[in-house]
Amino acid sequence: MKERLSRKVSAIESSITLEVSAIAGRMRAEGHHVIAFGAGEPDLPTPDVVQDAAVQAIREGRGRYTPAAGIPALREALSARFQADGFPLPADQVMVTAGAKSALFLAFYALLNEGDECVFPAPYWSSYTEMVKAGGGTPVILATSAGDDFQPDADRLRETLTDRTRVLLLNSPNNPTGTVYSRETLLAIAEVVRERDLVVITDDIYEHLIYTDEPFTNLLHVAPDLADRTLVINGLSKSHSMTGWRMGFAGGPKALIQAMSRTQSQIAGSPPSITQHAALAALANPPAPDRLASLDARRRLLMGELAKIDGVTCPEPRGAFYAFPDISAYLGKSGVPDAIAFTKALLEAKLVAAVAGDAFGAPGHIRLTYCTSEEDIREGVRRIGELLSELA
Ligand code: PMP
Ligand code: GLU
Repeated sequence: MKERLSRKVSAIESSITLEVSAIAGRMRAEGHHVIAFGAGEPDLPTPDVVQDAAVQAIREGRGRYTPAAGIPALREALSARFQADGFPLPADQVMVTAGAKSALFLAFYALLNEGDECVFPAPYWSSYTEMVKAGGGTPVILATSAGDDFQPDADRLRETLTDRTRVLLLNSPNNPTGTVYSRETLLAIAEVVRERDLVVITDDIYEHLIYTDEPFTNLLHVAPDLADRTLVINGLSKSHSMTGWRMGFAGGPKALIQAMSRTQSQIAGSPPSITQHAALAALANPPAPDRLASLDARRRLLMGELAKIDGVTCPEPRGAFYAFPDISAYLGKSGVPDAIAFTKALLEAKLVAAVAGDAFGAPGHIRLTYCTSEEDIREGVRRIGELLSELA
């Protein structure tokens, strides 16, 4: 059957982050205590008000198809939320999707013809390359460096653009580096967007997870004139621990939202109905501040533990819930040529699940999610250090 599959689908890899956590889950079911630095998923519970709203929606018989773009009350609530964030988007420029992932795919599908390029900075979230390909386009990588805090550089962006570039995709706070784009970075990028008439997708899923005083800022905050060509994508997976509920949303130009909704009406029908009713409760109850404080304590702990390992460097992540240490000084030795081999050995020999940087366009790194207990963070980093010293 394999040879009968389309070229398009044959080119798509499955989600490495989900795969790593599935393997860790299987090992746990076999009785091993696996330390989970794998998939990015808050370990904090879904707020009670959200759970209660879902139960009530089930009891009220709300498990039916909804309009393809989402129930009107939720689109209104999302419009109000965008407005509060500084983006004046009426409800007909907002849609609900089954997770931010679906919104991203629908956007690529709506914007890219074959051969059209979508540019995004590396290190990037591993799903971007695959989703752009699935949507019919070609992913193009804009390199950044740890020395520059992984900020995308406008001149380098200019050099990366071709006459096939249609879309620029930005993600700040960033998965996997935890960097947060500065106003200066965004202002310079906005200039390039104007010069080259690009469409922008801004993936704001980690909006509520910034550990410093810097306010959340995306391209539209510094360049509101770009609203006619910018799609904002967000969701409740991270802010309200609703990963499996599949609740994402998008806001942007009306024609684009209509195209994405048309496609959604054909492929998914509608976003999950019970989740939409629960989302109304989530939006009425912004994330409690202790969620951020709890993740921040673990971020600091992880950074402190990593600093104890000689030869491993890791710029301080200021947002999201990942650290992205560079372990390249230890690679190429003792049969461990790269980070992929390292993470395999780490899981098999030390029972620690992490994701190799190769999946994020950054070989020589590993990504560690710190949504786990303080005890596991200490023990997990100790085991990483142990394996590294065995290699050295
Ligand atoms: N964007 C980024 C950068 C992510 O890390 C994730 C992972 N959850 C998503 C989008 C998608 O989130 P979801 O589909 O759960 O809303
Ligand atoms: N976004 C999370 C991660 O990067 C969840 C997994 C996924 O959706 O692929 O780990």
